[in-house]
Amino acid sequence: MVNNMDKRVGVLGGGQLGAMLAEAANLLRIPVNVLDVGHSSAKQISNLGDHVEGSFKDADAIRKLAASSDVVTVEIEHVDTQILEEISNAGADVQPHWRTLRTIQDKYTQKEHLISNGVATAQSIPLKSATLKDLAEAADVLGLPLMLKSRKEAYDGRGNYAVKSKVDFEAALEALGGNRALYAEKWAEFRMELAVMVVKTRDDVLSFPTTETVHENSICKLTYTPARGVSSSIDQRAQDLARKAVACFEGKGVFGVEMFLLQNDELLINEIAPRPHNSGHYTIEACGVSQYEAHLSAILDLPLKQKSLRLNQPAIMLNILGGETENSHLKVVEEALKSDVRPKIHLYGKGKARKGRKMGHLTITAPTMSEAEEIIQPLIDFVDAQNS
Ligand code: ADP
Ligand code: MG
Repeated sequence: MVNNMDKRVGVLGGGQLGAMLAEAANLLRIPVNVLDVGHSSAKQISNLGDHVEGSFKDADAIRKLAASSDVVTVEIEHVDTQILEEISNAGADVQPHWRTLRTIQDKYTQKEHLISNGVATAQSIPLKSATLKDLAEAADVLGLPLMLKSRKEAYDGRGNYAVKSKVDFEAALEALGGNRALYAEKWAEFRMELAVMVVKTRDDVLSFPTTETVHENSICKLTYTPARGVSSSIDQRAQDLARKAVACFEGKGVFGVEMFLLQNDELLINEIAPRPHNSGHYTIEACGVSQYEAHLSAILDLPLKQKSLRLNQPAIMLNILGGETENSHLKVVEEALKSDVRPKIHLYGKGKARKGRKMGHLTITAPTMSEAEEIIQPLIDFVDAQNS
C-alpha cells in the first residue's frame, strides 16, 4: 500500500487547486505531473514529476500526461471528457470517473442526475434556445426573480445572471447568450449557503465539517467552519445530504458540495464540484488531513478514516481577490502581515490580477469562533473599504 505513494499523479489544470494539491503531495513525496500552459501555479510548486506543456483541453497533451502518470485526476471540471473516455478505455486510471466529470460539467445534466437519485436541487428548466420566448416560458413556470445560468464553463458567477424582472430578460440573454446552452433556475430564498467537502474512497464516503460560505457578487468571499448559528440537526442533515449526493457519482476523489439552507430550514443542493474546492481551503490549517491530502489518499487508495477529517479548531477563510489594479490585492497581504495574530497567507503566483480573480486566501484558526472573528474582522473591513 505504501507503494501507492510512488504512483505518479497526473493533474489536468495547473491553477491554485492544483498548486495546493502539489503542496500536499510534496509532504508525502508523491510525484505530481501537471498539464497546463506555461509556469502555472501548480508547476511552481512541484519539481518531482514530468510536467506537460499545453492546454488541459488539448487531446494530445492529455494523452501525453496519461502516458507519464499512474492516476489521472483534475483540478477543474471543464475538460474534454471524450479524451478521458478514450484513455480510460485504453487502461488509464482516471479519477473521478470520466462519466462523473461529463455529468457534472453540464450543470443541468448534473441536476437531472441528482434528482433521479432522490437528491433535492433547485427546480430548473433548460432553454431550447437563448430567446426571449423561451426565457419568458421558463419564467412563467419558475416565477421571478430567477437565476439564468450557463449550462457549461461556468465559475465564480461568470455563467450566472440574476433575472429580477421581465425588464432584465434582454440583458440576461445578451450577457450569457450567444452560442451557450442556458437553463433557468428557481430563485432560492436562502437563509445561508453551506458547503461540505466529501471524500469518495474505494470503500467509503466520508465528509469534512459543514462550512458556511458567504458569496459577494456570486463569488465566494468568506467561509466559516463550523457554520455559525446552525443547529446540530441541520448540520447533520447537511452532512447526510452531501454524502448522499456524492455517493451517486462514480469514481474516487474529493467533491465540493454547495447547498442552500432555505428560510424553512430545507436544504437544497446548489451544485457539486468533482475536485477540491474553495470552500475546503480551511481544511489545510483546521483539520487533521486537508482536502488535498484526502483527494490524494482517495485516488491512490491510501487508508483514510473519518476521524482524520474532523475539525481541530474553528476556522475562517477570506479570499484575496484581484482589485482595481494589478497589485492592489497585495495591500490586504501587507495588512495581514501586520496582524497581532497572523493568519496563514496563501498566494497563488498567478501574476497580474484582474478584478475579481482569485489571487490567494487567508485562513485564521483560533480556539473559539469569536476569537477567529475578532482577528479577521479588521482584514474584512480593510477589503470592504478598498472596494467601496
Ligand atoms: P458558480 O459556478 O459560479 O459557483 P453557482 O451556480 O454556484 O455558480 O452560483 C454562484 C452563487 O450565486 C451561489 O453561491 C449563490 O450565492 C448565487 N446563486 C446561484 N444560484 C442561485 C439561485 N437559484 N438562487 C439564488 N442565488 C443563487
Ligand atoms: Mg458555485
